[in-house]
Amino acid sequence: MNAGSKRILIVGGGFVGMYSALGLKGAARAGHAVTVVNPENFMQYQPFLPEVASGTIDARAVVVPLRRVLPHAEVLIGEVEVIDHGARRATVRMPEGRIEELDYDIVVLGAGSRSRVLPVPGLAEYGVGFKTVQEAIYLRNRVLSRLDVAAEADDPERLRSALTFVFVGGGYAGVEALGELEDLARDAIRNYPMLRRERMRWVLVEAAGKILPELGEDLAVYAKRRLRERGIEILLNTRLESAEGAVLRLSDGQEFAADTLVWTAGVKASPLPGRSGFPVDEAGRVRVDRYLRVQGVDGAWAAGDAAAVPDLTIGGLCPPTAQHALRQARRLAANLAATIEGRPLEPFVYRTIGGVCSLGRYKGVANVMGVKLKGFPGWFVHRTYHLLAMPTLMRRVRIALDWTVALAFPRDIAQLGSLEHPREPFERAAEGR
Ligand SMILES: Cc1cc2nc3c(=O)[nH]c(=O)nc-3n(C[C@H](O)[C@H](O)[C@H](O)COP(=O)(O)OP(=O)(O)OC[C@H]3O[C@@H](n4cnc5c(N)ncnc54)[C@H](O)[C@@H]3O)c2cc1C
Repeated sequence: MNAGSKRILIVGGGFVGMYSALGLKGAARAGHAVTVVNPENFMQYQPFLPEVASGTIDARAVVVPLRRVLPHAEVLIGEVEVIDHGARRATVRMPEGRIEELDYDIVVLGAGSRSRVLPVPGLAEYGVGFKTVQEAIYLRNRVLSRLDVAAEADDPERLRSALTFVFVGGGYAGVEALGELEDLARDAIRNYPMLRRERMRWVLVEAAGKILPELGEDLAVYAKRRLRERGIEILLNTRLESAEGAVLRLSDGQEFAADTLVWTAGVKASPLPGRSGFPVDEAGRVRVDRYLRVQGVDGAWAAGDAAAVPDLTIGGLCPPTAQHALRQARRLAANLAATIEGRPLEPFVYRTIGGVCSLGRYKGVANVMGVKLKGFPGWFVHRTYHLLAMPTLMRRVRIALDWTVALAFPRDIAQLGSLEHPREPFERAAEGR
């Protein structure tokens, strides 16, 4: 490295991490060192997770290998535990548990968010989130395996519990995951002559008085009606009070057993910035100025779900969405490079184009620049928008191929839950069982 070269550390390899590293290609060419630290060697395109869960898209098509797209950067697989910004040093836990200290000059905080898990008794033991590709794969296998359990259940209580699927949280993630998985189960159950579709119970529990609040009243009402027409129960103004022993107790007095509990009740900013002494707001998001610099801290930048980014178009803060995170990352990288080179900075200004939401195959809603679409057109816009936004041409082609195959052939209903215990057959063989 030349004298004057900077070591830029990017924490997180999601939308912010990957796109800011891409935006710093020029800085890397000029001799600055760019390092990205992320627990996995891929970036995941979360908006496609519901389709991974339903098996319409292969999981590998929605993750982007960081080393492939960032050849100009060093990619370190690990988790930043804490940052001592005064000393310009990050403590990183490597996959095998080794701790490494990483010195830097400039830090980009892009550690995103995690599921906002509330202290509901039994939730941590029986619930599962919907934030990662692993959770999406798990849920696909879970739903299919419950059909197998139900098919062999003698006890009616056991059958009811196996066929009860509960989602808590009626935002995009919860509605899309439920819509896709119910579609999958509805198709799959045709292969189980002993089970009737009507025996399945799909429930969406939402603490507020409506679902999909970001989409506007009429689209949200339409989505609710379409889901209810499919027999999905939507319980508004209702909370999950406990899930102990996999028996769910709701605030409306209902109590029933459910094998599958999915928690999609919002996200919470990564605790890393707060833990490391960066200024955070009451929700734990890093406070940044209009240029995406951490407020009052030299050499630190932040964006995405982990940051409280002012929305200069309508006031308030930008919502935690991918469309904001990736644009913030590009602006952040441009401003960071401009700072190094002594050029003027530009503020982050982005007016949201709207929202799109799938309700399952061929069904969706979209609000794009005020144009509202329902049913097939809404679903088509949702797909096209995300396909175009998916990083790398190769991934876009793979997804388009997966969709084409899905049009021509029935759904694959093999469940690979045994992937969670790959060593079991070998251990049994070794023990002679
Ligand atoms: C199911 C689902 C559907 C969604 N659908 C949409 C949609 O349709 N449209 C839309 O605009 N948005 C959607 N979103 C939201 C969108 O995915 C997020 O807003 C976006 O991913 C935020 O980008 P980010 O870079 O801030 O965080 P992320 O993309 O989550 O990336 C953060 C990265 O940092 C890593 N990390 C965390 N802690 C550390 C640490 N200590 N050290 C190192 N690395 C760390 C994480 O592992 C992760 O790789 C959806 C989200 C979900 C879960």
